[in-house]
Amino acid sequence: MKNDINDYSDNPYFDMFQKQRLKQLSVGQQSYDYRIKLLNRLKVAIEKTYRARILEALSKDLGKPNVESELTEIYQIIGEIKHAKAYLHRWMRKQKVKTPISMLGSRSYYVYEPKGVCLIISPWNFPFNLTFGPLVSAIAAGNSVMIKPSEMTVHSSALMVEIISNVFAEDEVALIEGEVETSTQLLRLPFNHIFFTGSPKVGKIVMTAAAKHLASVTLELGGKSPTIIDKSANLDLAAKRIVWGKFMNAGQICVSPDYVLIDESIKAKFIEACKKWLNYFYSNQPKDSNAYARIVTQRHFERLTAHLDNATSQNATIDVGGEHDKASKYIAPTIVSNLNEKASLLEEEIFGPILPIVTYTSISDAIDYVNKKERPLALYIYSKRKAHINAILKQTRAGGTCINNNVIHYSNHNLPFGGVNNSGIGKSHGFYGFKAFSNQRAVVKQMTFGITESLFPPYTSLKEKLARLTIKWF
Ligand code: NAD
Repeated sequence: MKNDINDYSDNPYFDMFQKQRLKQLSVGQQSYDYRIKLLNRLKVAIEKTYRARILEALSKDLGKPNVESELTEIYQIIGEIKHAKAYLHRWMRKQKVKTPISMLGSRSYYVYEPKGVCLIISPWNFPFNLTFGPLVSAIAAGNSVMIKPSEMTVHSSALMVEIISNVFAEDEVALIEGEVETSTQLLRLPFNHIFFTGSPKVGKIVMTAAAKHLASVTLELGGKSPTIIDKSANLDLAAKRIVWGKFMNAGQICVSPDYVLIDESIKAKFIEACKKWLNYFYSNQPKDSNAYARIVTQRHFERLTAHLDNATSQNATIDVGGEHDKASKYIAPTIVSNLNEKASLLEEEIFGPILPIVTYTSISDAIDYVNKKERPLALYIYSKRKAHINAILKQTRAGGTCINNNVIHYSNHNLPFGGVNNSGIGKSHGFYGFKAFSNQRAVVKQMTFGITESLFPPYTSLKEKLARLTIKWF
């Protein structure tokens, strides 16, 4: 690799990048109709042409049940496209703002202009949604885009190459398959914006690379999302929703409840309610259920079973599940309690079908517990007590929160989605995604004589008085 960061002659992706860079201004100047045409083409590809093959690829990569693929991949992308189409005209309009009297004779507005050539790096857990979702925002904002999907979900990535090359011109949108080395090479290039979804660890690598060119970043990261349940909560409903949010996609969801913080006195009842719903959703043989997904790779399977070994070696209780099968990368929906404070399940993001239960005796203890950890992507509250809900909302920080539910805030395109600090920087979805891929360019148009001109040099005592009057009155 060359030492000069501006020498790209050995970079295998520089030619493609350069093609996009040369065309970026003409892409950016394309009309509203053109952007809508691109969105429509992508919509038809996902909704019609490739729909069956998308479901097939997800089933091969993750054992994803079709209903989950429809709801968490196709529905999310189509929703993002429909939302962008409904609002794009408004977003592309000049945004007029007030002009102070001291600038009399001028008008002010700002416009959302495309950032230029953008890089999207995506993870494997929702391979289509987390690649095409940001892409919708990027093309709605008028950018050229290079995409690097995850190497873990090979069937999905191979299909995405086909979709992208059939829907877009390569000098506008291109997808490059590859492993870490591919990302590393792409990250050397002087992109105008980098949109990364993945782990906080790799997020730091991305931000370091972006800093070399002062590229802006959106980092959609992960972490441990707590779920706090107090005594006033409807326990049965809480268990139903938590079991759904935790074990969908076998827990491989950035916003799934990572762990439960529950009032000591209702722990046993909650675990019983979870057992009931697990049995209802996945039967008493989840391995045979067509509603239950698999772990993405052997490496992740081993990472998760190591968490279980770590917990049991420290005398934790496996309340539910715990069975696993390496050959089929199956891990049963598992609930664990009585964990040692230093157990790896309580220290690292789990990203799999294991739900640790931690107990508290007062709501302030629960808040302290959350605040001792990194700021989470999501924090969920199950309670009917306003005072508890408000205390948790005011005394913690998180990317997003659902009250008496989980995960679903992700699906409202009117809400900003993203984390805070360790769980992310910047927001995505709907207008917030469009904004992430845009530069807000401020414009002042001088119409007539400006009164500030009367204060230009040479300076006199009268001008000094006028300057003071301006400060006082305008
Ligand atoms: P990851 O960070 O390992 O990989 C994400 C992408 O980065 C992949 O394309 C990968 O090839 C690339 N990559 C990996 N190592 C790299 C390196 N050293 N240099 C450059 N690029 C590298 O994440 P993952 O395992 O694919 O996904 C799981 C993580 O993503 C979890 O932490 C999860 O919470 C998070 N996530 C966040 C969101 C969100 O919207 N906030 C959504 C899904 C997943």
